Amino acid sequence: MNAQLELLSITDPLTGLYNRRKILQDIERESLRVDRYNCNASILIFDIDHFKTINDNYGHIEGDLILKELGELIKPLIRATDVFGRWGGEEFIILFPETNLASAAIIAEKLRKAVEEHIFTNGKNITISIGVGTLIKGRKVEEVIKEADHMLYRAKESGRNRVEYINKENEQKP
Ligand code: GH3
Ligand code: MG
Ligand code: MG
Repeated sequence: MNAQLELLSITDPLTGLYNRRKILQDIERESLRVDRYNCNASILIFDIDHFKTINDNYGHIEGDLILKELGELIKPLIRATDVFGRWGGEEFIILFPETNLASAAIIAEKLRKAVEEHIFTNGKNITISIGVGTLIKGRKVEEVIKEADHMLYRAKESGRNRVEYINKENEQKP
């Protein structure tokens, strides 16, 4: 009974993923590890592109099914030690322990592609935009989340179905 209550308190009811509160707790704990051991950790925030159109055209129930299936699609593509949750609405967040920015960007691109190529059970397909942020010794959790959020915003602004992270443009220069 207690275990069940405990599970409920950390779970998003629609997708069965972790909820925002649990993810935040885990990022806070990871941040302490980064400060203490000077190790790496990164986060991704991703958001479904034009999801409002899906709801408007096919209804909220179809929209909910897509949210659930998206979670199921992503889960096997990440590690059991990564923490995957619903950030709210049609936004998701993943915490990657022991992962630097460059590695997180590679994973993000893999996930973006997997979603783009997936045909959902109801025959629909969607794309996602992803912002990456990385934890650095001495940096507050809010700053890292803000970074990922800004990068997500940039991905939307630059046309959606994209991954963005700090200094991406610089790296692409010859
Ligand atoms: P953008 O590419 O800029 O992200 O466009 P968008 O349409 O996805 O963004 P917007 O913020 O305008 O709309 C988000 C939509 O997500 C609107 C809302 O109906 C839908 N949504 C949020 N939570 C849920 C949910 O739990 N179930 C369903 N079916 N839809 C949801
Ligand atoms: Mg959206
Ligand atoms: Mg959104």
